[in-house]
Amino acid sequence: MQQTGKRSWAEPYKIKMVELLKMTTKQQRQKAIREAGYNTFLLKSEDVYIDLLTDSGTSAMSDRQWAGLMQGDEAYAGSKNFYNLEKSVQKHYGYKYMIPTHQGRGAENILSKVLIKEGDIVPGNMYFTTTRLHQELAGGTFVDVIIDEAHDPQNEHLFKGNVDLDKLKNVIAEYGAQRIPYVCVAVTVNLAGGQPVSMENMKQVRELTQQHGIKVMLDMTRIAENAYFIQQREKGYSVRSIKSLVKEICSYTDGATFSGKKDALVNIGGFLALNDEEYFNEASNLVVVYEGLHTYGGLAGRDMEAMAVGIEESVQDEHMKARVGQVLYLGEMLMKQHIPIVTPIGGHGIFLDAKRFLPHVRQDQFPAQALAAELYVDAGIRSMERGIVSAGRNARTRDHYYPKLELVRLTIPRRVYTQAHMDVIAESVVNVYEQRNKIKGLEMTYEPKYLRFFQARFGRI
Ligand SMILES: *Cc1c(COP(=O)(O)O)cnc(C)c1O
Repeated sequence: MQQTGKRSWAEPYKIKMVELLKMTTKQQRQKAIREAGYNTFLLKSEDVYIDLLTDSGTSAMSDRQWAGLMQGDEAYAGSKNFYNLEKSVQKHYGYKYMIPTHQGRGAENILSKVLIKEGDIVPGNMYFTTTRLHQELAGGTFVDVIIDEAHDPQNEHLFKGNVDLDKLKNVIAEYGAQRIPYVCVAVTVNLAGGQPVSMENMKQVRELTQQHGIKVMLDMTRIAENAYFIQQREKGYSVRSIKSLVKEICSYTDGATFSGKKDALVNIGGFLALNDEEYFNEASNLVVVYEGLHTYGGLAGRDMEAMAVGIEESVQDEHMKARVGQVLYLGEMLMKQHIPIVTPIGGHGIFLDAKRFLPHVRQDQFPAQALAAELYVDAGIRSMERGIVSAGRNARTRDHYYPKLELVRLTIPRRVYTQAHMDVIAESVVNVYEQRNKIKGLEMTYEPKYLRFFQARFGRI
């Protein structure tokens, strides 16, 4: 099930330019993490050897994308790069209209403002931080309709991103279709660990919502990765190309928000796509207020060109085989060594289960935060806490939220690191695991008011 086939996933490209990394000693790293208050967000990037903080905006661009940068047409209006991007979106995703935005959340803001009214309900397959916030700011309330399996790190369901149709039916019955402007479907589901949605589920969601006249809007940030899992795991789809699967997923929806910083292999950019002309006109008008003219939306012409080329490269079978293949390669190595990780392995990273990794550290002593700090000290690998620190506090009782999932995320940037880097990561995780009994918890010494995980500081207990 996790197999990548009998043939290797090796990269369909060769390296033309390299970025040299600073090598540090363990002593230097101990000092650096202490000065960073044991928070990997506060480390200097130059002190990091392998940076797995995020896969967002961290991809390596191809020579064709760099060539695209040189072809930037920086006209204020009607840049030729806008038309190239529009063509790429129409060709690969099938949507009629496209409005560029500075990144994904810019598109979320416009979509929410156009479609959501005060008091509306927006069902979705698990929340994403910025998506939910824009829905709320527009007066809506997010309701989670993902299947229960998504909340269990050891459940082996192959499509843990699926929408639970009964939950969705209940939401429609409870609030009525008039109060539900659209269902937001994310492919893949980031916060569940990069878990995919099946094609069958996409069709069922379409069918159910159509009966009630409710739209479906896609958060298609990692749609090509989702298509790869459909090709590999879902019956009847192994002969289909990623390209055709991507287009079919989009065909069951009315529009989409897109962060080019993930799938599309660029460092900045995004867009809003729509099929309805009236909504498009409204969105084109709003984008002028928040982003820029509707033919550049906060991006330089060169950025739009790089994204147009990146979209084309992202839907190639050989690219996706190597991209997800590298993630699976690392995950399978860790599973062989009995390291507790979230399974099945997702599309953009490996999630260590800190509750099982450090069972002796109480959740209010921040096991995932402590583990992320330890990984950095061991080999200079930067990961991210996704547990009690990220979850924050209940505003009323002032107590911590205690989330079920206490995870450390090792996110793999696209086309950046080699198989040898994956080996080094696995060796380091195994080394830390062997010494796990010596790892102690942390205490929080500084807690900022908002989104504390970015800037909180800790000390060793
Ligand atoms: C990154 C991300 C977004 C937001 O995109 P930005 O480009 O970071 O603004 C939205 N949804 C998901 C699932 C994401 O991973």
